[in-house]
Amino acid sequence: MDIQITNPNKIIYPKEKLTKLDVVKYYAKIAKYMLPYIKNRPISVIRCHEGINGECFFKKHPNLEKKFIKTIKLDSENKDSEYFYLTKEDDIIYQAQMGTIEFHVWSSNIKHIQKPDIMTFDLDPDKEISIDELRKGVKDLKNILDNLKLKSFLKTSGGKGYHILVPFKPKASFEKFSEFSKQIAILLEETFPTLYTSNSRKAVRKHKIFIDWQRNSKGATCIAPYSLRARNGATVSAPISWAELDKIQPNEIDIFSIFKRKNKNPWKNFFDIDQEIIR
Ligand code: ATP
Ligand code: MN
Repeated sequence: MDIQITNPNKIIYPKEKLTKLDVVKYYAKIAKYMLPYIKNRPISVIRCHEGINGECFFKKHPNLEKKFIKTIKLDSENKDSEYFYLTKEDDIIYQAQMGTIEFHVWSSNIKHIQKPDIMTFDLDPDKEISIDELRKGVKDLKNILDNLKLKSFLKTSGGKGYHILVPFKPKASFEKFSEFSKQIAILLEETFPTLYTSNSRKAVRKHKIFIDWQRNSKGATCIAPYSLRARNGATVSAPISWAELDKIQPNEIDIFSIFKRKNKNPWKNFFDIDQEIIR
């Protein structure tokens, strides 16, 4: 597919002086790494036609561009139940041409849309939380998963926190799946009540790390691995290894540094993991 790039010189990241063409080039280069984690999953995208400081919108449903993308209707009665998904590298580049900066993905795949297979924990630190406390949070959560014999994978959010992903076989319902993640967040909160909360209410999150397990319900999304963030710095939500946790800040890896990383594939075996939630 030949993709025509309109407004290539439009400034998208004013501070970094990055243009729409820079964003498109980034996605063209990263697409082969990104595709496995986004392919065949319903997505929502953030578009900022006037750059990241202009008006941005979160797009959940397909419209005019429908003929270029694949769509899935979850409920034939409801027009808001139509979602879109990508299947190939060019689809990612086409999204960038359409003004997409951030890609957010579901926890299930269209092949088994009611059975999620990637669990996400998002560690959201309150502003008084130090980076050392945040990293302890990540390690405490990993410990719980290790004790349950569950393999987990780490990425930067490109913003304030880290995300831990746990791949599963698509067996459990959304209800079971998100309940399981909630119980893990509660266990962490009960073990270290002064540091963690599983409750999303702002008031109880003061001086704490919110262990956000709510990305694991139907329709909820999380920023995709390798997606750019529509934030200053042109940061990326980047997969890193567990050994890199103490070395890499949540907003450290960006549109340039991602390609300079020695560790080209920190998430080896992600799709070979054979683990499931017992129903
Ligand atoms: P940070 O580390 O800075 O918290 P993050 O990726 O964890 O970064 P957000 O970008 O604030 O946090 O995203 C919060 C969640 O809400 C994500 O799962 C995202 O998919 C979802 N989301 C973001 N924007 C919208 C929106 N406008 N409408 C609905 N959901 C959204
Ligand atoms: Mn977060």
